[in-house]
Amino acid sequence: SDYSTPRCYLNHRGCYVVIAVSVFNVLRSLSAASHGLTDEQKEFQKVAFDFAANEMAPHMAEWDQKEIFPVETMRKAAQLGFGGIYVQPDVGGSGLSRLDTSIIFEALSTGCVSTTAYISIHNMCAWMIDSYGNKEQREKFCPDLCSMEKFASYCLTEPGSGSDAASLLTSAQRKGDHYVLNGSKAFISGGGDTDVYVVMCRTGGKGPKGISCLVVEKGTPGLSFGKKEKKVGWNSQPTRAVIFEDCAVPVANRLGEEGQGFNFAMKGLNGGRINIASCSLGAAHASVQLARDHLLVRKQFGETLSNNQFLQFKLAEMATKLVASRLLIREAAQALQEDRPDAVAICSMAKLFATDECFNICNQALQMHGGYGYLKDYAVQQFVRDIRVHQILEGTNEVMRMIISRNLLSES
Ligand SMILES: Cc1cc2nc3c(=O)[nH]c(=O)nc-3n(C[C@H](O)[C@H](O)[C@H](O)COP(=O)(O)OP(=O)(O)OC[C@H]3O[C@@H](n4cnc5c(N)ncnc54)[C@H](O)[C@@H]3O)c2cc1C
Repeated sequence: SDYSTPRCYLNHRGCYVVIAVSVFNVLRSLSAASHGLTDEQKEFQKVAFDFAANEMAPHMAEWDQKEIFPVETMRKAAQLGFGGIYVQPDVGGSGLSRLDTSIIFEALSTGCVSTTAYISIHNMCAWMIDSYGNKEQREKFCPDLCSMEKFASYCLTEPGSGSDAASLLTSAQRKGDHYVLNGSKAFISGGGDTDVYVVMCRTGGKGPKGISCLVVEKGTPGLSFGKKEKKVGWNSQPTRAVIFEDCAVPVANRLGEEGQGFNFAMKGLNGGRINIASCSLGAAHASVQLARDHLLVRKQFGETLSNNQFLQFKLAEMATKLVASRLLIREAAQALQEDRPDAVAICSMAKLFATDECFNICNQALQMHGGYGYLKDYAVQQFVRDIRVHQILEGTNEVMRMIISRNLLSES
């Protein structure tokens, strides 16, 4: 079940010839993923591609099939600075830009989307504590998160509040120097296996202004977890409900002031949306390469599929949409970095466009593999399964349309 090991199916699968080993090694040349980057960016892009090829791709199928959360591999990634990519260096972060971050997540996800997507959520949590925490909170939590000695989860969604996140009900009642939490969070990535929970909860009245953000540590009495969800993809990371029953959390663990939590959650997601779109991009990038290699070797009707103009045109469209997605994601990353007024809308556009188009690219790549694409021996099906959820989480693509149109219609 190792996609990147050379294997030959020639004998028992007719004329199929193996695409072999190094698909992941030649990926970096595809469709100019490094065009326009600085020398420094090209350097860490290479580091991330190499890490994806050597440390992730060989295990991607096994992590999926056995549902392994690859803690040690992620800690190795953290040694390269990928545990707190856009966290400030004084607390152990790499201090890189949003564009740098996108480049890294695109490259890493060619080796395993699911693991990279978890790393991106972890980075988002670390950034929230770095950005909105006080000195003590930053010093307490960020170094261990940046080294991935500890892992983080982002807790916004509840059973009754998904797209309408501001309607969340988990309550935090202040009792002296503690808040007492009651309620539950649904679909929490890493839930149960992680150490630090960044929890949006209600300390005030209805709506977004009644929401605060607390950091809850694993082991706190009253904190428990639901069963591990069985998922279509994203299997190298656990997803569980997170449950609070009279869970006492120190007031000292509140980020910012009461009522600021929803704003922090949305600011985190702006970057999160670029990151998750970048993970789709990496999957599409890998899938175009896999499809190309398959067309070049698979023969039907007496010639390779690469001689068929319909498939040539399809491949051309896939590569075009890949590059268009990349351009939009990088534009969004730049807009967020510069804190441009249109940044929120552009981040939403990038998430909407890239996660939809990249899913279509991966699905088309699967189609080009014919029946083989439907077999778990071939990586393309895992890319399809893993990125499907990017159209749903961190704000569904319908919610992205709401944000974009709200921005357009509110302009004078
Ligand atoms: C694998 C996985 C991991 C996740 N990880 C996390 C995590 O780590 N942390 C976290 O907080 N959450 C997480 N989520 C939750 C995710 O963010 C939500 O599932 C998502 O926001 C959608 O919410 P919902 O599932 O309740 O769908 P609903 O909000 O019930 O939406 C159902 C459908 O209706 C559409 N819809 C809803 N309202 C409108 C409207 N007004 N107009 C048009 N269409 C609308 C939606 O777009 C969607 O298609 C995860 C989800 C999954 C599947």
